[in-house]
Amino acid sequence: MGRVMTYKKWVIGVALAILVATLATLGVLAFSTSVQNGLMRRHFARTIGVERTDLMSTDALRVAICGSASPMPDASRAQSCAVVCAAGKYWIVDAGPGSWDRIARWGIPHRLIGGVFITHFHSDHIGALGEFNMQSWALGRPEQLAVYGGPGIEKVVAGFNDAYALDRTYRTAHHGPKLMPPSTGPMRAITIAATDGGPLRGEASTTVLEVDGMKVTAVAVDHHPVEPAYGFRFDFAGRSVVFSGDTTKTRGLAIVAKGADLLVHSAQAQDLVEIMEAEAARAGQERMRSIFADIRTYQSKPADVAAVASEAGVRAIVMTHLNPPLPNWLAERVFRRGTEAAGSAWRATACSSPCRPAKPTSSTARSRIDAPRLKARRRAPAFTSRGAPFEARRWAGRTSRG
Ligand SMILES: [Zn+2]
Ligand SMILES: [Zn+2]
Repeated sequence: MGRVMTYKKWVIGVALAILVATLATLGVLAFSTSVQNGLMRRHFARTIGVERTDLMSTDALRVAICGSASPMPDASRAQSCAVVCAAGKYWIVDAGPGSWDRIARWGIPHRLIGGVFITHFHSDHIGALGEFNMQSWALGRPEQLAVYGGPGIEKVVAGFNDAYALDRTYRTAHHGPKLMPPSTGPMRAITIAATDGGPLRGEASTTVLEVDGMKVTAVAVDHHPVEPAYGFRFDFAGRSVVFSGDTTKTRGLAIVAKGADLLVHSAQAQDLVEIMEAEAARAGQERMRSIFADIRTYQSKPADVAAVASEAGVRAIVMTHLNPPLPNWLAERVFRRGTEAAGSAWRATACSSPCRPAKPTSSTARSRIDAPRLKARRRAPAFTSRGAPFEARRWAGRTSRG
């Protein structure tokens, strides 16, 4: 009996000691300015000025996905965006809403933005264009930002330039013209057109840009009634990546993607969209039901993506522009149904976004990429072509929400 009492007293004593220590720690954190400042300093030291210059090497092609959602609300993904690191710069393919935030938190050196390629002018592909321009300007981009797209890109760019005109005057007035030069503030549109001046159509493709060993090719895709609608192929350092944009199964894309290392392709699981359509009807959401019905013929099914990849003989595919949104691994698995049938020369990955940039090549780089504190929960694919062969990996990485 006496020993039990002693034991109880001991346990209570230890619990009280832990409680007092916890309260004391919380008290210090809540009221000590110097401790608070020390912790904040540590936090800022790990986040401010972090630059992944290692991604900008001139001997590798790197790809990361900065937005893989469709226009459907998605808690963990930004909308259409990919970043290609090549020729010492980074290049953006589509600037969907929320995507600048991903790029900024990865620590990609903003002044090194080479240009933006817009596949088509749906809002989920252009919504963050103004932010890409304004932020890279404020952070030291030395020239006007070049924005490439089909006929109509002049109108889109002029509109964003107009919408941000007052913002630019405020910033120049506030920080001075040396830091915020008015001459490099507005974007510059570069139109990609067929020889007749109209959009590329059918299976047409054309070289858009050749710079420092990097070649970019545009190809017409089918996103009817949207026109122009393009996909893009990047070749650099003996490696290649192709972006489909939004498209149904398109032969022209398969031709341009021939032998590519990686195909990043939009995908919509039609069987799941049909379930959504039925549920919208059951809930009396006629407008929603009607939209789900209309988009049936607008995108590629995962099995179509697999078929294009097989036809083109690409080494790896990543499905993006995911509709419906995929909240967990089971949904991703359901989404990939049917892709196995088309072949096994590649691996299909439903992209979790934001995908982390290419695998760091040193432990220093690894700690740096973790520094932006991406609150990550999900596996994310990232791709690098440094060394052979080109690899498509899934990491137990972390991706941020929101
Ligand atoms: Zn679209
Ligand atoms: Zn889209």
